[in-house]
Amino acid sequence: MFFCRRTQDVINAVRWARERGVRLRVRSGRHSYEGFSAVNGGIIIDVSAMDKITVDRKRMVAVVQTGNPLARVYNKLWNKRVALPAGTVPDVGVAGLTLGGGIGLLSRKYGLTCDNLKQVRMVVASGRYGAKTIVANKRKHSDLLWASRGGGGGNFGVATAYTFRVRPISNVSIYSVTWKWCDLEKVLPVWQRWSPSVTNRLTSTIEVSAKQVGTIVSTGQLLGGAEELRRLIRPLLRTGTPVKLMVKTVPFIEATRFFAESDLNLEPKFKIKGAYGFKPLPGRGVRIIRDFLSKAPNRHSSVWSQSLGGAGSAVSLVSPTATAYPHRNAETIYELSARWRRSGEQQRNIQWVTRFRKALRPYVNGDYVNFPDLQIKNWPKAYYSVNFARLKRVKRKYDPHNVFRFAQSIPVGKRVKK
Ligand SMILES: Cc1cc2nc3c(=O)[nH]c(=O)nc-3n(C[C@H](O)[C@H](O)[C@H](O)COP(=O)(O)OP(=O)(O)OC[C@H]3O[C@@H](n4cnc5c(N)ncnc54)[C@H](O)[C@@H]3O)c2cc1C
Repeated sequence: MFFCRRTQDVINAVRWARERGVRLRVRSGRHSYEGFSAVNGGIIIDVSAMDKITVDRKRMVAVVQTGNPLARVYNKLWNKRVALPAGTVPDVGVAGLTLGGGIGLLSRKYGLTCDNLKQVRMVVASGRYGAKTIVANKRKHSDLLWASRGGGGGNFGVATAYTFRVRPISNVSIYSVTWKWCDLEKVLPVWQRWSPSVTNRLTSTIEVSAKQVGTIVSTGQLLGGAEELRRLIRPLLRTGTPVKLMVKTVPFIEATRFFAESDLNLEPKFKIKGAYGFKPLPGRGVRIIRDFLSKAPNRHSSVWSQSLGGAGSAVSLVSPTATAYPHRNAETIYELSARWRRSGEQQRNIQWVTRFRKALRPYVNGDYVNFPDLQIKNWPKAYYSVNFARLKRVKRKYDPHNVFRFAQSIPVGKRVKK
């Protein structure tokens, strides 16, 4: 294990591993669903002690070292009243989140985290046994910057610092609406049509729990006031019988804590399957969700979805090939989750969530590289779609010896004959 404090430590660690032929992995926030930041019989290059953040309020940029967890990024930026669109869980690493995309409650207005990445500093392998630092931006190594915007963590080198565009932020308004489970077939279709059609200043989520829990909860964040938010969510409030409602204006930093709370106290073991929705589910798709969640293995299973696209969304305004993240036309992203505590429960949970994702196959597509899943056979297509061939070329250029590799890493592309 190499805990790095400076870029030179990272260079030394990569050299050390290469000289000895030892496998290596890169780690920051430790949140990889499939453990891609860990390795047996090799070394882990951990950057979590590299946690400096500087904000230039005049140029509206922040330089963020890659060891930072999201909560620290939000807090430091909030001190200067600026924000970066990023994810919800406080201890997720900005490193892996950014390289795979980065979705959250500011996505529809300000895009993915990677859309705001202007520059990356990265330690890459060099020569037969060496390592060196390069800086990728619009002018230099622009292909590596392109690949770092959605190409996934751990593929090309060790990112040590990101330069992000940041946005001014002060108060935002947030909502939460709860329905009973019996409203599922009314609420889900309405949310699916409504969430991509409202102003891009509003990004929202919906979580349908297992029937044993018996609730459906939609939450969201508006860059605007509580009055406007109340008006915007009327179509939701008119659907079924909401049993709980909260709408309020809060400082942005408080909103990040509100959205973080929903992920506390989860069961320690899980299998998650991701997917994108390009249009609302038909009645048959909604009934599949109803049927699976009414026979869920336990009360910790759920389906969660977030709006990404639609009306002027900054995510969809970017072309699928402009960055390595290709899923620009998706309206929503889904996460199907099974969670459990005891090993004996594992098989049943994994089988359930696998059958669930399969049943939805006619209605959803692809997967987010930050929700990796070792069971996906054609993962290059699922994660990267039209961008896979270019990613292989970037891999060949920056990591021709395939130093940075794991079960689903981008393979070294073939040399193109001239
Ligand atoms: C509880 C939970 C909540 C989540 N919420 C969100 C969310 O709101 N939005 C969202 O978009 N995603 C979310 N995710 C997914 C998250 O984006 C990915 O798990 C992401 O890869 C985590 O990055 P990490 O640095 O924490 O993890 P790690 O396990 O440290 O790394 C993940 C991958 O990135 C590589 N990597 C790590 N550091 C570096 C580096 N410095 N340079 C190069 N490669 C590196 C690793 O080798 C590995 O392949 C969530 C995940 C979890 C478990």
